[in-house]
Parts: sequence; structure tokens; C-alpha cells
Amino acid sequence: MSDIHFNRIALIGIGLIGSSLARVIAEKKLANDVVIATRSSETLERAHALKLGDSYTTSNAEAVRDADLVIVSVPVGMSERVAREISGHLKPGAIVTDVGSTKRSVVQQMQPHMPDNVHFIPGHPIAGTEHSGPDSGFAELFEGRWCILTPVDGTDEAAIETLSAFWRSCGSMIDLMDPEHHDLVLAIVSHLPQIIAYNIVGTADDLELVTESEVIKYSASGFRDFTRLAASDPTMWRDVCLHNKDAILEMLSRFSEDLSSLQRAIRWGDGDKLYDLFSRTRHIRRSIVEAGQEVDAPNFGRHGIAPEVSGEPDAS
Ligand code: NAP
Repeated sequence: MSDIHFNRIALIGIGLIGSSLARVIAEKKLANDVVIATRSSETLERAHALKLGDSYTTSNAEAVRDADLVIVSVPVGMSERVAREISGHLKPGAIVTDVGSTKRSVVQQMQPHMPDNVHFIPGHPIAGTEHSGPDSGFAELFEGRWCILTPVDGTDEAAIETLSAFWRSCGSMIDLMDPEHHDLVLAIVSHLPQIIAYNIVGTADDLELVTESEVIKYSASGFRDFTRLAASDPTMWRDVCLHNKDAILEMLSRFSEDLSSLQRAIRWGDGDKLYDLFSRTRHIRRSIVEAGQEVDAPNFGRHGIAPEVSGEPDAS
């Protein structure tokens, strides 16, 4: 048994992240009792069939009753609604956290609804895949990945430590950050790559000179790496774009400037400039492998891996 243990954990939202949490909580015996809540009865029935918890409800308010830890794993645009629904039903002393990919907006949406007698500590595990729903989760998702916590000023240190210990038991390493900084960092490492992937796959889809069958047939030349990101859940990514607008727009304008410079180098045949950039970027890849956030195997180590685990964790 792990050092950290809760009597009752409530999981609100049981998609990729929620169901991965359910699985690791069961595997590491992190709670006596896990309550699962989700919006639709279809998803709830699936969670039940997969035996992801001890009890199941479509009422978020009912789920949090007597829970010592509440983890909200829903698209970020739903945060305010969930916070409003649970606020009058939380156990005094409970820790309430989330896993949303943007943090400033989640704080703005949830904080006003949190009673003074609970500890609200927003969080974001930097782990994910392009799959969604309760079937897509797996207990190892958080293993060796960072989890960023963005507590607001004045948050109880002991509660931060308890939540950190929970994530460490799930296999994660912890960083603390303020929400604005989190949003800026994630805009470049996660949100921009995602937008570029959606854009390039959309461009290929619109091309009339190249047929769709050719795009698919020759995709191993690079295109397919973008399609993995572009297969991600549209609701989640719509919400990320709408809720991290400022940081994403800032990164997009930097990106556009750099792309214009690259375009110019290609137009003017500036091979030195191209070679210099392409050499610099190789180092970044090596550093990521050295930091244990990617494997240096052919085909990104994904060859022959079952579909449900083949998506190497993204920095979503
Ligand atoms: P997902 O697989 O699409 O699951 C979302 C879950 O939220 C579903 O169970 C859905 O329920 C539920 N839900 C939606 N609205 C709800 C509401 N009002 N009340 C209760 N449940 C509700 O999504 P996910 O990939 O797990 O992402 C969840 C969160 O984690 C998002 O905020 C995302 O930004 C963040 N995140 C994602 C990744 C990633 O790679 N996917 C990585 C890190 C963080 P129904 O099916 O019943 O509608």
C-alpha cells in the first residue's frame, strides 16, 4: 500500500484522464471508496461495466458528499458549471482539484464557488494520448510524467503536500507554478503543436491537387505524426483554445514571424540559415529523450504497441 490513502475519492468525469486515475487509484490502493460521476448515463454505464469505481452517479453534487479528495476531469469549459453544482455539498476539509489543460481560466471559473472550508488546488498532469472516453485510460499514464499544481496564494501547505503525495503515488513528479506561467508554457509545448497539427491536416484535406488516397498512402513520410495529434478530442481542444486565448495568440504570432523567416530563407536559397535551424532543433529532441519524456526508438518507440497505449503521452 502507498503512503497516501483517502477514505473516499470522487472522480468527476471518467474519460481518458478520469479513468486512468480510477485505474491507478485501484492498483495502488489509494482509497477505500471511489465514487464516479459523469454527465451521461451511457458513459456511466460503461464506467460501471469496466468496474472503475465503487459507486456511480450522474449527479456531481451527490458524488462529492463525504469525499476527502475530489478530482474534476472534464473539458475546461465545463469547470464553472461543475464547481457551481458541487459547492454546497463538499465535505469540510476536502481537497478539490482538477486536471484541466488551462489554469487561469479554471481558477477564474471554480475559485468563486469554493467554500472557505475546503482546499482548492488546481492541477494539470502533463500526460495524455489522442484517445478519449472511459475505455482509453490506463494505470501507467502518469508514470514518469510531470504534474503541475497551481495553488492560489494562501493555500494550506499541508493540503498541497497531501495532493503532491497523491500524484507521486500515481507515478508523477510535481512542479508548482502560478496559473499564468503555466498557461504560457503550455501554449508553446502543447497548445501550439496541437493547433499546427489541426492546421496541416486540414490543409492536406483541402488540397485538390493531391488526392486523399495519396495523402494516406504516403503518410509515413511525416504527415502521420501530425494526424495522431489531430485525432484528439475536438471538445477538449476547442475549450483549450477558447480558455487560453491570450497565451496561444502570443505564441501563434511568434510562430508566424519565424515561419515567414523560414519561408524567406527557402525562397532566397539561404541553405546556411536552414542548416543552422535544423541543427539547433535536433538538440531539443535529444534533451527530451535524455529527460525521459520520450524514447529514442525507431518510429518513436510506438511500433507494435497496442492502440490503447500507442499514443505516447502528450503535453496536453
Ligand atoms: P474525455 O476523455 O473526453 O472525458 C471527458 C469526461 O468529462 C467524460 O466522462 C464526460 O462525460 C465528462 N463530462 C463532461 N462534462 C461534464 C459535466 N458537466 N459533469 C460531469 N462530467 C462531465 O476527456 P479527457 O481527455 O479525460 O480530458 C479531461 C480533462 O483533462 C480536460 O480538461 C483536458 O483539458 C485535461 N487533460 C487532457 C489530456 C489529454 O491528453 N486528453 C491531458 C491532460 C489533461 P460524458 O461522456 O458523460 O459526457
